[in-house]
Amino acid sequence: MSEHDREHDRTVSWRELLAETVGHLEAAGVAAPTAEARWIVEEVTGLEGAELVLGLDEAATVRRVAHLDALVARRTAGEPIQYVLGHWAFRQLDLLCDRRVLIPRPETEQVVDVALAELDRVLVGRPAGHRPLAVDLGTGSGAIALAVATERPGTDVWTVDRSAEALAVARANLAALGMAGTRVRLAEGSWFSPLPTELRGGVDLVVTNPPYVRASEDLPASVAEWEPTGALVPGPSGLEAYEAVLAEVGDWLAPGGAFVAEIGADQGGDVAALAARAGLGGVRVEQDHAGLDRTVVAVRPG
Ligand code: GLN
Repeated sequence: MSEHDREHDRTVSWRELLAETVGHLEAAGVAAPTAEARWIVEEVTGLEGAELVLGLDEAATVRRVAHLDALVARRTAGEPIQYVLGHWAFRQLDLLCDRRVLIPRPETEQVVDVALAELDRVLVGRPAGHRPLAVDLGTGSGAIALAVATERPGTDVWTVDRSAEALAVARANLAALGMAGTRVRLAEGSWFSPLPTELRGGVDLVVTNPPYVRASEDLPASVAEWEPTGALVPGPSGLEAYEAVLAEVGDWLAPGGAFVAEIGADQGGDVAALAARAGLGGVRVEQDHAGLDRTVVAVRPG
C-alpha cells in the first residue's frame, strides 16, 4: 500500500482522537487528562494551540495514529508526561528530557531566580571588564546552567555531572542554544573534580541541585520508578552531596562569591549549618512559591 492509500483509508479526525486520548488518560487515573491529551496530540501532529484547533477536523494518518498510540501507552503505563513528550519547559528554555536525567521542576526555576540575583549582587563588587564565572554542579539536563547562560549572557558557565548519560542530555540541550551557549563548558566528574585548577578561587557563583532525598524516604511512584536514583538519593542522610560540595566550595569561590543550593523542605537548618561550618557567611534559607524552604544561600567572606 502506498503512503497515499494509507493516508486515505483511515478517516478518523484529530478531534475524535483527542477525545479518545482524554478518555484513555482519565481511565488510567491521570490527574489532568485534558491538558495532557492536548500536549500529546500537539507533539504528534506538530501543531500547537490555535493551529491545532484549526487542524482538529483533519484526518489523521496511520503513521501518526501509531505514534499517538505509542505515547498514550507509555503515559497510561505510568511514565511521567515529561519523558513521554521528551521535552519540557524550564524558564525560557525547552529542554530535552528523558530517563537519563531528572525532570526539570518548577521549584528549580525558583532556585535559578535566587542564583541570578546572587550573581548580580556579586558582580556589583567586581571591577569593570570582569568576566563572570558560574559553575553548576550535578547539572543533569543542564537546566540551571543553561538558564544562567541564556539569562546572563557574557557569563562563563562550567557545568559538571558525574553521569556521562546526563551530560549527553545536557550537551544536546546546549547545542540547541546556539550563540547563547558558546560560553558554556561541560565537564564529566564528581563535583569540583573535573574543573580546571585555574578556576580555583575565581568562581562568582556555585549553584547546585544535588541529590538530596534520604535513602529511607518514600517517594511517589512516578518519581521512584522513573527518575534516575543517582540524581535523587545521595545516601542515608540525604545530606551527603552538600557535605561533599561544601567541603571544597571555599577553595573554588572567589572572595564575595555565592553558593546557592536547592534543598529539600526539611533540610534548611542542616544545610545552613553545614555552610556555616564550611566557613561561609551570610547564610540564609529562601522559600519557594509554596512557602517551603527550597534554597540555601551563602557567601565566601572576603
Ligand atoms: N525535588 C526532587 C523530589 O522531591 C528531588 C530533587 C533532588 O534530589 N535534587 O523528587
